[in-house]
Amino acid sequence: MKLILLGAPGAGKGTVAKLLTKMDGSVQISTGDILRAAVAAGSDLGKQAKAAMDAGDLVSDDLIMGIMGERLKEDDCKNGYLLDGFPRTIPQAEALKVLLADMGEELDAVVNIDVPRDVILDRLTTRRTCSDCGEIYNVKSNPPKEEGKCDKCGGPVVQRDDETVEVISNRLEVYNEMTAPLAGFYDKEGMLLTVEATSSDAVIDAIKAKLAS
Ligand code: AMP
Repeated sequence: MKLILLGAPGAGKGTVAKLLTKMDGSVQISTGDILRAAVAAGSDLGKQAKAAMDAGDLVSDDLIMGIMGERLKEDDCKNGYLLDGFPRTIPQAEALKVLLADMGEELDAVVNIDVPRDVILDRLTTRRTCSDCGEIYNVKSNPPKEEGKCDKCGGPVVQRDDETVEVISNRLEVYNEMTAPLAGFYDKEGMLLTVEATSSDAVIDAIKAKLAS
């Protein structure tokens, strides 16, 4: 399957993507994960992205399209992909359309995961992430078995630098201004599936129903 997962930070895109990869061998492509790995490695890309990421602002469209233009051509994309956190602006969506047309590919759907703001704020401030493998935990509802240590790979489970209350507020504002208009963009293209859901299972069920129809 080839899907875009739209939704505010904390809507559960990453969790849903990870569950979907287990269904059919599609890969999760998270631009946020790619950028965080680049920052951790201290690469040029990481250096260019860090300041915007720390402030909760968006990295430039050119930088993101450079990453995605390469990533979508890699071999593991042949079985499908779940785009998590990309596209995030109308210019990125337009550039993606051209890129996919050049590659002779079509998306199956764009899933907009719609979650109330209070749920999102609570989730983001209590979310913890493994800095080695990206596994997501929650201090209230799904803590690692041993505090601060990933159940899967043993890596450090930490609060992301951009998950403080101030940065989260900015990320939500940036989302409303720059990314929320993508729902209208994809609706016009006839590809939008909006799921109002607070559980990942409900989102998965809606996606399965849409793909079967
Ligand atoms: P995420 O993990 O998807 O919330 O992304 C973390 C941060 O990486 C965002 O707050 C942005 O600074 C940056 N980022 C990730 N994806 C994109 C994108 N498609 N366009 C611009 N910036 C992005």
